[in-house]
Amino acid sequence: MKLPPLNALVAQTETLTSRQIILRVVPQDWQLPRFVAGQYVVLGLPPTAPRCAFSLSEREFAQGSHTDALPETKSDREQLIRRAYSIASSSHAGEYMDFYISLVSDGRLTPRLFALKVGDPLWLSSHPVGVFTLGEVPREKHIILIATGTGLAPYMSMLSSELDCGSTRRFAVLHGARHSWDLGYRAELENLQHLCSNFTYLPIISQADKEPFAWHGPTGRVQQLWQTNPLSAVWSFTPTPDNCDVFLCGAPGMIDEMLGLLRQDGFTEHRHGAAGEVHIERY
Ligand SMILES: Cc1cc2nc3c(=O)[nH]c(=O)nc-3n(C[C@H](O)[C@H](O)[C@H](O)COP(=O)(O)OP(=O)(O)OC[C@H]3O[C@@H](n4cnc5c(N)ncnc54)[C@H](O)[C@@H]3O)c2cc1C
Repeated sequence: MKLPPLNALVAQTETLTSRQIILRVVPQDWQLPRFVAGQYVVLGLPPTAPRCAFSLSEREFAQGSHTDALPETKSDREQLIRRAYSIASSSHAGEYMDFYISLVSDGRLTPRLFALKVGDPLWLSSHPVGVFTLGEVPREKHIILIATGTGLAPYMSMLSSELDCGSTRRFAVLHGARHSWDLGYRAELENLQHLCSNFTYLPIISQADKEPFAWHGPTGRVQQLWQTNPLSAVWSFTPTPDNCDVFLCGAPGMIDEMLGLLRQDGFTEHRHGAAGEVHIERY
């Protein structure tokens, strides 16, 4: 079977840690489509693309000698490896798309994405999709964006595309990670908080005992942070289903627990055709 042509190039790679990168991708001889902040596209590479260090070797992977992933079959080897990735860059940046990606050591695609260098080709789908956007949130409502890990990606796009500094509409990001160094985009978000009185950034880490320097912020999981009602203190009012919508993105465990907590506070899930205040994207 003939693999589809690789239609995009890596324009920039930013290594945040050995397990997190930001990949900037540009189309090769075609125009990027317009998208709504929060949507995702699909990235792809051929199975022949090399895997990075810090991942299982090809032989280990092919033998399925680890617990999670299945061994590659003949048909796997004849198709592009494709996975969905949220667009992390602004919808106003028409020339490139950024992706905030974490390494799954025994995964099929991420070890290959981590091996890419500037100028290398890859496949990029031309139709952004997804309904995890601010489109259906009433303009007068505040926005709470809760993520673990790279679940922050769609929020970076929403903030750079739709945050109006100084407006009465408030935005907050609650970001959970294991270590402080896993809090991608932390400097940008701290700067944004200094510049925008209507933006609040609340990071939390779960393994503070492993920090080489004292961590003065909250510790635990993002769902524990939510239970301390941190936004009431900053905003001087309590977030309710009437005054705000909540977005949840990242690990399925966090999403399930947060959904349970939010339901106790009267929030309901937003589904196609059923209005609700909790919007969900599971990775
Ligand atoms: C709508 C959508 C948007 C997404 N956006 C992003 C994004 O912006 N950034 C990003 O990094 N990922 C994102 N993902 C996840 C992404 O699509 C891949 O699933 C992920 O990168 C792993 O791909 P892989 O081929 O390396 O691993 P796979 O070969 O698919 O998985 C190998 C094994 O690892 C397990 N596994 C898969 N993912 C993880 C994980 N994250 N942590 C731990 N174990 C895992 C699987 O259960 C499997 O056993 C998104 C997913 C969806 C559905």
